[in-house]
Amino acid sequence: MEDSLEISIAHLYPKHLNLYGDLGNIITLIKRCEWRGINVVYDKIDFNDKLASHDLYFIGGGQDKQQQEVAGELYKNKEFFLKERDNGAVFLGICGGYQLFGHYYQPFDGEKLKGISLIDAYTVAGKKRFIGNVTVKTDFLYPDTLVGFENHSGLTYLQGDCKPLGTVVTGNGNNGVDRTEGVRYKNVFGTYLHGSLLPKNPHFADYLIELALKKHYGRDFSLQKLDDTIEIKTHESLVGKAY
Ligand code: GLN
Repeated sequence: MEDSLEISIAHLYPKHLNLYGDLGNIITLIKRCEWRGINVVYDKIDFNDKLASHDLYFIGGGQDKQQQEVAGELYKNKEFFLKERDNGAVFLGICGGYQLFGHYYQPFDGEKLKGISLIDAYTVAGKKRFIGNVTVKTDFLYPDTLVGFENHSGLTYLQGDCKPLGTVVTGNGNNGVDRTEGVRYKNVFGTYLHGSLLPKNPHFADYLIELALKKHYGRDFSLQKLDDTIEIKTHESLVGKAY
């Protein structure tokens, strides 16, 4: 058991961005902390809420309409989020939320949405919708795969110091061309993997929890192992699943 450790999680605009079970990511983070005796302060952030510093920020996916509503609210707080990123806070954005981490998202119809430039990337809507299972090979996790489900028309292009989460083995990922999926920059992570992502990728959930603990306490942590027999069986059953 981790003695009386604590992390804080801010769930950004869940009333607007929470698609395809993205709430499962929050449930996984909280349960995997609770199972280790780590306390979680969980705050749901709504429009016009006063923002306070948290160790981890989560934002889910959504259709273009919800993204338009959230983009303005995020942009109002851009400087706050940039400062949090540079102070080591962990960010996890899924699909629509991930797209708003970049400089902009240009939907197929309608105005270009300004992002908060947490990452040097941009997204433009393509004509084709990518829908299906995805397997990603990573170079920073063990096991070295991530699995999930994508459903997006946005095509995301990474620039500058942005690294992808990994290389697409099956599926399309960021744009269906450069074989990248998601993004890693400082402690900012974005991905197109819905499903939800973390229940089927417990190793990534623990990686994020360790980063959040490091943000909170200023030192490295190596979490005690949990019995992930079922989670890993599920993960392995999806690796390479046909698109
Ligand atoms: N509206 C965005 C797109 O279609 C994001 C969709 C989502 O969050 N699943 O690319």
